[in-house]
Amino acid sequence: MTNWSALSDACGSADHVPALLDRFEADPSGVWSDLMDHLCPQLDTVYAASFAALPRLADIASRSDGEHRRWVLLAAGAIMSCAPTGDDVFEALSAPIAILHQLTDQSLRETPDTETYVALLQSLLSFEGVEIWDRCLEGLETGEYEVDCPYCGVNLFIVIGKADCFAASDDYSLREVEKTPLHPLRPDEQEGLAKRLHDRTFADGQHVISRGVPYLFGRATCPDCGTAFSVSDRIVSRHH
Ligand SMILES: [Zn+2]
Repeated sequence: MTNWSALSDACGSADHVPALLDRFEADPSGVWSDLMDHLCPQLDTVYAASFAALPRLADIASRSDGEHRRWVLLAAGAIMSCAPTGDDVFEALSAPIAILHQLTDQSLRETPDTETYVALLQSLLSFEGVEIWDRCLEGLETGEYEVDCPYCGVNLFIVIGKADCFAASDDYSLREVEKTPLHPLRPDEQEGLAKRLHDRTFADGQHVISRGVPYLFGRATCPDCGTAFSVSDRIVSRHH
């Protein structure tokens, strides 16, 4: 049994967490913000009670389905995205994490809404201990990332849009600006996570996301200084 009073969350003693989880189970979307305020504020801070809640979240997810289940998986995914790769929690909680991973894998195939799909895909990666990409895939859905040029340091917009894929150093939404085209990975260059994300999103029918993945892992050119660079390397460096 978890000794909740010995643990803390964002608001102090975790005594009240079991009751909070009961309320979350009854109404995941309604209690989501309350749960996150206690266990994962700003979606980037965790406490001992956050990880202690994972077995219960796995249990709730197992006994729910559809949108209900997705909220539970996203809560657990937010918590796990705060655990560094190789953290002890992956071994200590391997059983509930395996359940959460399997349910997320299954939910992805049943989630047509692209925004929710990408959030769940990040959760899937968080249960595997993949860092950075468990919180940096949203740009594939919004169509935009911001990075720094590795040479001149200027802030760049990397646009992975439905109509156009380019880099720009000025706000392209306000006026005509100089744009340099992005160079996506060729199919024979795709490997590792890039290939897996491309193939998985395609198989799940998320074709807009799938089409963007080779650009995310491809190359861009700084419109200001002409330096070519790897888009994903710059995203990783900004988040380290
Ligand atoms: Zn530059």
